[in-house]
Amino acid sequence: MDIRENVPLASLTTLGVGGPARYFVEATTEAEVIETVEFARARRLPLFVLGGGSNLVVADAGFDGLVLKIGIVGVSHFTPPYGGMVFIAGAGCDWDTFVAQTVEANCAGLECLSGIPGTVGGTPVQNVGAYGQDVSEAISEVRALDLESLEIVTLSNAECRFAYRSSLFNATDRGRYIVLQVAFTLRPNGRPMIRYADLEKHFAGRSGEPALQEVRDAVREIRHRKAMLIVPGEEDARSAGSFFKNPVVTGEFFEELAARLASEQLVLPGYPAPDGFRKIPAAWLVEHAGFAKGYTKARAGISHKHALAIVNRGDATAGQIIALKDEIQAGVKRKFGVELQPEPVFVGFNGR
Ligand SMILES: Cc1cc2nc3c(=O)[nH]c(=O)nc-3n(C[C@H](O)[C@H](O)[C@H](O)COP(=O)(O)OP(=O)(O)OC[C@H]3O[C@@H](n4cnc5c(N)ncnc54)[C@H](O)[C@@H]3O)c2cc1C
Repeated sequence: MDIRENVPLASLTTLGVGGPARYFVEATTEAEVIETVEFARARRLPLFVLGGGSNLVVADAGFDGLVLKIGIVGVSHFTPPYGGMVFIAGAGCDWDTFVAQTVEANCAGLECLSGIPGTVGGTPVQNVGAYGQDVSEAISEVRALDLESLEIVTLSNAECRFAYRSSLFNATDRGRYIVLQVAFTLRPNGRPMIRYADLEKHFAGRSGEPALQEVRDAVREIRHRKAMLIVPGEEDARSAGSFFKNPVVTGEFFEELAARLASEQLVLPGYPAPDGFRKIPAAWLVEHAGFAKGYTKARAGISHKHALAIVNRGDATAGQIIALKDEIQAGVKRKFGVELQPEPVFVGFNGR
């Protein structure tokens, strides 16, 4: 176990802001993960588990504890008796490289999640989703270290309590588990999922069903246009992805707001959510509260290509990112009465 001190964290995140970790360890085996946890416990150090750093805002003061980066890699697969194909991937595997492997093996289930940055272990935490697919539809089991018992456990899909951008890992049992490995049950020779407007448009007018590889390529192309794909030189991708979740409101609230906005000639978009609730696109709220794409304050800004991405325009501080986030939240609240909830995780901010 190699324990380093005062390790800068900004370059380990896609947003690129924030100070150092007091202690830093990269663990490449389960034994190293346990050893690191024991080290932190013995010294009463707060512990933060780092994946690919693509959903984080690190405070300017850094993290006064131990950052444990999960570097467990390796992918295997087998055919189970109940059908399908099971892929097992180490939590530290690069997510998009793993998705490429499953698509190459012609197994359906993750193709729409192509191009999402980060690690395999990060995906169950907020139940990542894109283009009509959520990772929870494919996860069969999560192998994790339970920090309460210091035992390795296997959690079934149901036990992970997946919901929209949520699971027990970031809700009820936040901070309790370290994900070590994830098992996905995929569909060999399965049909690709095309149920999202952008993808339907991409393939409109074509005869025959696209191959999984074509869907993966299309998703990456659409993401690239929106700067939601990390490629060299793409400054609008210096972000943590979508900064706000799409708010889910009661049907009654939605109807009242829609009626009020109709008098201003605005048509409020909304999609059905379970139990009569409605999901409102956060990007629409942000733009109609007066924050256009490209809006900039100090060195923080809104992406020129995506209204939901807060971007580091170069040398931004975490303080500037937070100030812009606060301004957007207050503007949306004032105009629509809706509280936008941030999607990224805040590291080193007391009380956030
Ligand atoms: C350009 C861009 C586009 C994006 N697009 C999408 C998108 O389309 N859909 C979407 O859902 N998200 C998207 N994201 C957000 C992000 O990529 C995902 O949330 C990703 O799964 C985070 O994984 P990570 O490994 O980078 O986690 P990190 O950012 O390192 O950590 C995020 C959280 O997960 C925890 N965590 C990470 N690894 C583990 C582990 N092994 N065990 C326990 N906890 C762990 C951390 O402690 C932290 O709380 C995007 C981000 C960017 C920058």
